[in-house]
Amino acid sequence: MDRRTTLASLAALPFAATTSLASAATLPVLEALKTSPSMPVLFLGHGSPMNAIEDNPWRSAWAAMGREILARAESPQLILCISAHWLTRGDWQITGMAQPRTIHDFGGFPQTLFDQQYPAPGAPAVALKMAQELKSPVSGSALRVDVSEWGLDHGTWSVLKPMFPKADIPVLQLSMDSSRPPAEHYALGRQLQSLRQRGVLIVGSGNIVHNLRAVQRDTAPHVAYDWAREFDERVQAQIKQGQLDALQNFQALGAVAKQAHPTPEHYLPLLYAAGAARTTEMPRFFNLGFQSASISMRSVLWG
Ligand code: ZN
Repeated sequence: MDRRTTLASLAALPFAATTSLASAATLPVLEALKTSPSMPVLFLGHGSPMNAIEDNPWRSAWAAMGREILARAESPQLILCISAHWLTRGDWQITGMAQPRTIHDFGGFPQTLFDQQYPAPGAPAVALKMAQELKSPVSGSALRVDVSEWGLDHGTWSVLKPMFPKADIPVLQLSMDSSRPPAEHYALGRQLQSLRQRGVLIVGSGNIVHNLRAVQRDTAPHVAYDWAREFDERVQAQIKQGQLDALQNFQALGAVAKQAHPTPEHYLPLLYAAGAARTTEMPRFFNLGFQSASISMRSVLWG
């Protein structure tokens, strides 16, 4: 579904705004970030939107990861999510609404999935400040704050809802400028690193292998195409060896890269997460395996 269709369908849908507002009203508005111990960084393979509601091992692992993060000495003050599903052209944007809407940016799924809401609040004042602090890798100027168009797309809510079901941590989304090369996405990811000492949990949500043209329904997690397995392993090796800079050159892997990513939007969130990680941090992999043989669910935790 392209962005225009998404927005058109958004306009047509009566959002359950009352639920969202009721929930947000009970939470204090986050006005500023405080210094904190370094927060972890996550890259999550999200796969099918159905993972948000299906009782399956992928979803269980997200839930366990959420509990683990909340069990640390300090919980995140804010979540900044870079989703494969928010592409902007010509600039990078940050969501700045007080109550971001839950976007159902998909088609052909059961009504239950369309009924899902994730009423986490936004943080307008923090978004404004963050947009000024972060610099466009192209122009060096501040990023744009979006107060009306986007919200939380399924790349964000399908993973955050299982992880943090209370929806009480404010969430911002950062878009990806689809007109720019991988190196610039990685460069912006590097800028996110310092946010970790101010209570921000950075979450990249995409897939290390993502080829929808090649999906085979109902395959087991160990079933994958050779090219999918090869690309997944090459990326895994680079992450494991701390060669995070090398991840931006994924297209140099040639034919397997083209097969793993006919279009790059599900890979790019990895560059933000890897950019925010430190090369000295030992990565931890989870959710190893494939969905539909052509989507790697491999996820990574740093820190
Ligand atoms: Zn996706």
